[in-house]
Amino acid sequence: MKNARQPSHLVFLGPPASGKGTQGRRLADELGLAYLSTGGFLREILREGGEAASQVKPYLDRGHYVPDEIMLPLVRAWMSRHADGWVLDGFPRTLAQAEELDALLDPVERRSLRAVCLEVPEAELRKRVASRVECLDCHWTAGDSEIETCAKCGGRMAPRADDDLEKFARRYEEFRTQALPAIKFYQESGRALTLDGLSAPDQVYQDLRSALDKMTDS
Ligand code: AMP
Repeated sequence: MKNARQPSHLVFLGPPASGKGTQGRRLADELGLAYLSTGGFLREILREGGEAASQVKPYLDRGHYVPDEIMLPLVRAWMSRHADGWVLDGFPRTLAQAEELDALLDPVERRSLRAVCLEVPEAELRKRVASRVECLDCHWTAGDSEIETCAKCGGRMAPRADDDLEKFARRYEEFRTQALPAIKFYQESGRALTLDGLSAPDQVYQDLRSALDKMTDS
C-alpha cells in the first residue's frame, strides 16, 4: 500500500549479484510500487528477437553496458506508463543516466528520490554469480543452481548467459568505472543510502527499511 510518508521513487545501485533485484523487488511489492529491472527487460528483448534484440545483443554478450542512446528511450517509455512511482533495479548505471533521470522528475520527486547502494566484496560476488539461477519468465533470482522451478511464477530457472566469470569481470569493471560516479552523484546530493549487502537477504531488507525510515523522518 502506498503511504504519503513512504518514498515513491527509489533506485538500486550496486555491482552484479549484490542483491539489487532481491531487495528491489521485495521493496516494490511491499510499498505497492512498480518495479523495473533494466537487465531483465533487456534479456526479455533478447528472447523476443527481432531488430531491438540485434541492437542490444552485442553488448549483453560481451558484458558491456548498453549505450545510453538505446537505453534511455526504453526507460523513458516505461516511465511514461508508471508515473506514480517506482523501484528501478539497475538504472541509472552511469552519471549521464542519473542526470537524465533527475531531468525527468519534478523537483519534489527529485528531492525525495532515494538511491540504495549495496556494498558486497568482489570475492563474494564471484561466488554468487557462479551459483545463481534466474527465472526465464519473471526474472526472480535464486542463489542455488539446483533450483529448477521458479517459486514465484512456476517458470523455468536457468543460469544467466552473462554470469560466467569472464563476463562477470567485465561487468564488475564497468560498474567500477561507470556506476561509481553515479553513486557519488547521489551521495553528494544527500540522497544515497549505503548498505552492507553481505548479510542474509532478510537482514539486508530489515536494514534497508530502517535506514529508509530514518531518512524519511529526518
Ligand atoms: P543486470 O541484470 O542488472 O545485471 O544487467 C545485465 C546487463 O544488462 C548489464 O551487464 C548491462 O549489459 C545491461 N544493462 C542493464 N541495465 C543497464 C543500464 N541502465 N545501462 C546500460 N546497460 C544496462
